[in-house]
Amino acid sequence: MPSLQTGEWTKQYIDGEWCGASTGETSAIENPANRETFTEVPAATEADVDRAYQSAAAAQEDWADRPHEDRVAIIEDAIEAVEDARNDIVDLLAVESGKVWLVSAVEIESTLDQMEVASTLRLEEEQPESAQANKSNVVKRQPVGVIGVITPWNFPLYLSMRAVAPALALGNAVVLKPALETPITGGLLIARLFEQAGLPPGLLNVVTGSGSDIGNSITTHEIPRVISFTGSEEVGKQVAKSAAANFSYPGLELGGNNPHIVTEHADLDLAASAGAFGTFIHQGQICISINRHLVHETLYDDYVDQVAEAAEGLTMGDPGESRNELGPVATEQQRDEIVEFIDSAVDAGASLETGGDYDGLFVEPTVLSDATNEMSVSCNEHFGPIAPIIPFETVDEAIEMANATQYGLSASVHSQDGDQAQLIADSLETGMVHINDQPANVGTIEPFGGVKHSGLGRFNGEWIVDEFTEPKWVSKQEEPRDYMLF
Ligand code: NAP
Ligand code: MG
Repeated sequence: MPSLQTGEWTKQYIDGEWCGASTGETSAIENPANRETFTEVPAATEADVDRAYQSAAAAQEDWADRPHEDRVAIIEDAIEAVEDARNDIVDLLAVESGKVWLVSAVEIESTLDQMEVASTLRLEEEQPESAQANKSNVVKRQPVGVIGVITPWNFPLYLSMRAVAPALALGNAVVLKPALETPITGGLLIARLFEQAGLPPGLLNVVTGSGSDIGNSITTHEIPRVISFTGSEEVGKQVAKSAAANFSYPGLELGGNNPHIVTEHADLDLAASAGAFGTFIHQGQICISINRHLVHETLYDDYVDQVAEAAEGLTMGDPGESRNELGPVATEQQRDEIVEFIDSAVDAGASLETGGDYDGLFVEPTVLSDATNEMSVSCNEHFGPIAPIIPFETVDEAIEMANATQYGLSASVHSQDGDQAQLIADSLETGMVHINDQPANVGTIEPFGGVKHSGLGRFNGEWIVDEFTEPKWVSKQEEPRDYMLF
């Protein structure tokens, strides 16, 4: 079992063993704040993925047959392991994912919430009445078997745990592929915490390879019955195709282009502080961040000033060295895309109110006024600390702009007029919408997920039970039936 220190993570976890890749090859993992390599993890291969799936399948039946209380006891011990490791996890999240202290604290709390809720999930049985005379029914929830889980780098611990904990609680086994940027907090750490909690070998396997090397072997393998994928729309589409070809269910949590709508009846201070928070937290690298601000023309200038002022007040620095409000973005590629979105908006006529520059992977929080809904920064998921602010005249116009995207993940609406807020919320094509708040809410038992190209399926509580179990209908004819129709 590796210690929690950053340099100790050099193995992946298959069938209860810490091991290298079948080829012995490794990938360097770098700290986004200073780009120093702090460890090398195995570059997993197709053979490693196959071994992981075989061990998951071999272990799963016994696990499903065990009394529910045994599974709960292990999840409860894993919760304790997370609580004991809290400070080390904050350090790991800082070094691996550039996360500032406050955001790490939120990620750890949300992770614990997911584990707590998972420990309450049961393989329920129901006895619905039959329309057929003298027939009794039992509908039993059964685990699907083995689940392949693929996750991104932005909230690695939370996004992996929200799949792993309910999957295990419901009697399944898991093969987890974290993002290449975050193999520790997105995977190996979770394996270690569950190993510490006494999870039997094979039930949770973590393979640390790149999506381009092993993504396909994870999604096309014949063993998994569900592929639970969180990531981009582009990769999600491929994952869905591969999974469907095998009749495994693709659970997809993809991108968003979340509007923050501020009406003429908004509380301006509240709307602007929510707007700044929902844009800049974790450098805007959240699927449910604010992507666009749609602001009524009567409040527009004051709103722009307030969000720009908030942006200028934020502190930024290496989260491993000091406590700041903002850290680095994940990769050079992310940074270059973010900067390109800013530059192209300015070229297209937006005004740079503040920000726009970068140093290494530290991108300044940026506010763009005079933005339009057609600018590439508005109609794409920019995934950066950018606030394009777009004016509107009528509520209909705001709704039309909000819905003019292929995505439908989250949204927020500010209005002190309850009827108006509700009307807008009802008119938005979105899986989640938050009135007088900002869109980055994850919940615990509320259905988390999107419509349109933002995905298929929902996370949290009972909602994930549908995805990670299969109902089996067993009926019994209590009295002989009359088949005289034939
Ligand atoms: P990504 O590029 O789609 O990667 C996500 C995961 O897929 C990574 O583990 C990646 O591995 C893997 N992958 C890459 N190619 C693959 C392939 N051909 N087959 C199977 N897996 C493959 O997404 P990202 O850039 O890491 O994350 C940002 C995106 O995730 C944004 O669009 C964001 O909105 C979305 N997201 C959605 C939610 C949600 O709940 N809806 C939450 C968080 C993030 P490598 O790292 O090795 O490439
Ligand atoms: Mg990517």
